Amino acid sequence: MTMDFSLSPEQTALRAKIIAFARDQIGGKAAEHDRDETFDEDGWRACAEFGITGWPIPQEYGGSGFDPLTTVIACEALGYGCADNGLVFVIENHLWACVIHLLKHGSEEQKARFLPGLADGSLIGAHALTEPEAGSDVLSLQTTAERRGDNWVIDGTKCYISNGTIADLYVVFARTGEGQRGLTAFLVPADTPGLRVVRQISKISVRGTPMGELRFDGCEVPAANVLGKEGGGYHLFTSTIEWERGFMAATQVGRMQRLLETCVAHVSRRKQFGAPLGSFQAVSHRLADMRVNLELARLMLYKIGWLKQQGRMALLESAIVKLFTSESLLDSALAAVRVHGARGIVADLPIERELRDTLGCVVYGGTSDIQRNVIAGLTGVAGAI
Ligand SMILES: Cc1cc2nc3c(=O)[nH]c(=O)nc-3n(C[C@H](O)[C@H](O)[C@H](O)COP(=O)(O)OP(=O)(O)OC[C@H]3O[C@@H](n4cnc5c(N)ncnc54)[C@H](O)[C@@H]3O)c2cc1C
Repeated sequence: MTMDFSLSPEQTALRAKIIAFARDQIGGKAAEHDRDETFDEDGWRACAEFGITGWPIPQEYGGSGFDPLTTVIACEALGYGCADNGLVFVIENHLWACVIHLLKHGSEEQKARFLPGLADGSLIGAHALTEPEAGSDVLSLQTTAERRGDNWVIDGTKCYISNGTIADLYVVFARTGEGQRGLTAFLVPADTPGLRVVRQISKISVRGTPMGELRFDGCEVPAANVLGKEGGGYHLFTSTIEWERGFMAATQVGRMQRLLETCVAHVSRRKQFGAPLGSFQAVSHRLADMRVNLELARLMLYKIGWLKQQGRMALLESAIVKLFTSESLLDSALAAVRVHGARGIVADLPIERELRDTLGCVVYGGTSDIQRNVIAGLTGVAGAI
């Protein structure tokens, strides 16, 4: 029995190639897109040409066909190399909130219809679950879908949808019956009559990822657009959420490393009281804590990649990695602000943006409280929800 924590030569080379691309080709206008709250279309196209939009999609549909472990390593490298967390989050939502649903639950016909466009980046994916009255409590969602002949008619409102104003394809969850077995997922192209983007929702975090509110008024989709089975929406949600939680942590681990290196450079260069900041233990210990969090988050992340590589479930592990990585990234971003002093909160440097971009991480994909509920439940704590 062996256990190998090192990357293979191929993985190391891929990582280096992605970091070079992410540093040189994208992210240069991060401050602009953050200020204006705009989507970096050129960056998206560059990522699509580089293959990122189709990393986990099989080659037969035009993707790169990366296995789960390779995908984790690739996403970590992207998060490390790309300075624009908003652009990276657009890609993450595309992959882990839309593409993954099709990969795991799409029919052959649906895969053939949508995956080539999602892979080459001509289609942007999104995921519409949350509603004004249904956030953490997914089962309380009120959007309905009613069968009418060969079609389903969707009515309701979805909010806080990442990529909401720019997506071409939405995975939409609606109520088709009572309780857990009364949820169904639908593939809804953005140009479907009856679907309207009500507004772009302004926010403090990942401002380069446009967030939208959507309205469905008699929005009719063919029965062929039911994803998975009618009434299978909750099962679909629980079986893909571990990908979203687990794999979105990959770019966050990359960001933690980028932040740490930025802080190491700063505390080694800047002097006060005639000595580098890093010589003060109160400062160096902050960086030591950042390093500990980074190493632990990465270990758990690679375990998720390994579990999914083997086709195993990772519901518990993905909740743990989601909780630990997002909270650790928030701690790291706050530590980065502290060790930079005034430079940490002015707009001249990206440190304040890194902190803002991190705030959303402890909310989307289930808040930290919800992850603790899941972890407690899967640990056998009686009554935990
Ligand atoms: C940046 C960002 C991107 C997002 N992208 C998408 C997207 O693409 N698609 C989509 O559908 N949604 C998206 N969301 C919405 C997100 O999934 C919800 O915000 C999240 O599930 C929490 O729901 P809520 O905001 O309604 O908070 P609430 O559910 O109202 O929770 C408020 C507070 O109460 C706590 N709480 C609630 N219930 C419990 C409980 N049972 N136990 C303990 N504490 C509890 C929460 O932890 C939180 O602190 C996004 C959100 C953000 C911030």
